[in-house]
Amino acid sequence: MFMTVKSSPLLDFLAATLADETLPNTIEQADFTARFVARGIVQIDPNQRTSRDIVISCGIHGNETAPIEICNRLLQRIARGELAVKQRLLVIFGNPAAMLQQTRFVDENLNRLFCGSHSQGEQNLERKRAAEIEAAVAAFYVDASRARLHWDLHTAIRASAHEKFAVCPYQPERGYRRSVLALLADAGIEAFLFNHAPAYTFSYHSSKLFNADAFTIELGKVAAFGANDLSRLEKLDVVLSRLIAGEELTPDADVLKDVTFYQVSRVITKDHDSFDFSFAEATANFTRFSQGELIAKSSTNSVFCDAVTEAIVFPNAKVPVGQRAALCVVPVSIEQVCM
Ligand SMILES: [Zn+2]
Repeated sequence: MFMTVKSSPLLDFLAATLADETLPNTIEQADFTARFVARGIVQIDPNQRTSRDIVISCGIHGNETAPIEICNRLLQRIARGELAVKQRLLVIFGNPAAMLQQTRFVDENLNRLFCGSHSQGEQNLERKRAAEIEAAVAAFYVDASRARLHWDLHTAIRASAHEKFAVCPYQPERGYRRSVLALLADAGIEAFLFNHAPAYTFSYHSSKLFNADAFTIELGKVAAFGANDLSRLEKLDVVLSRLIAGEELTPDADVLKDVTFYQVSRVITKDHDSFDFSFAEATANFTRFSQGELIAKSSTNSVFCDAVTEAIVFPNAKVPVGQRAALCVVPVSIEQVCM
């Protein structure tokens, strides 16, 4: 189906996704074909030759609205011809049902269900969605000889000592390239957190199964739709636009001098219903503790800082018993984490 610009669903893909509009399988505009793969998932294939396959996902947690608004605006500019698409692109609005009810998830945290783990256990909304997203990614990443990039965009529940940071999936066999991290630093990322173990997150899935340069990117604090100050994400918007436009980006490695690197040192698991942290609920991500300081306790156990300095990331005492309540991280040098 050939669509005029006026009627393209890409003009407000967020509205079309939330309303669960019935869309054509495919639309053609002057320079590209857009395929509506599933609710909230659109694949764009330019008519010209391309070299890179770019996945941009947002709303994997439904209430993390700022990146959703950024992606919606990118698609709108593409539909209007203001942004030329010169690389293959897959844009994913992760969890439309949770987006609609403005919650992190409906039944279960979607970002723990990738790498096929959605199939183990009773099916629910997020498990079905994880399977749908995995199928879209597998159909998109068809040629392993091409450059693959996946940025999974999030916002955090709490404030952060580093407003914007990237979580790097565990990939010991490949390591990380400075040029890839420098691109993120150009996009405004202030810190990198290197994972110590596999995780069933979306970015780990793209890294592990498709060797994509994949990252979970945290972009500041959650706000409601329309209440986000998107000017705070301008650098990200610029880099994404240039990637989509097919520009060869060669960021200066010096940009990494101002960035902080952390390695996950351990996971704090909630061991009992009485589990709680020693600090206030609103404590910022990357708040640092000194050796011997109490971090958390329950009626059966106490957790102390056991390095010279440890910082806490993603603390959440409300998770079910047995799940991760926080990550402990230690600062490292770039030489310790990069090739
Ligand atoms: Zn998130």
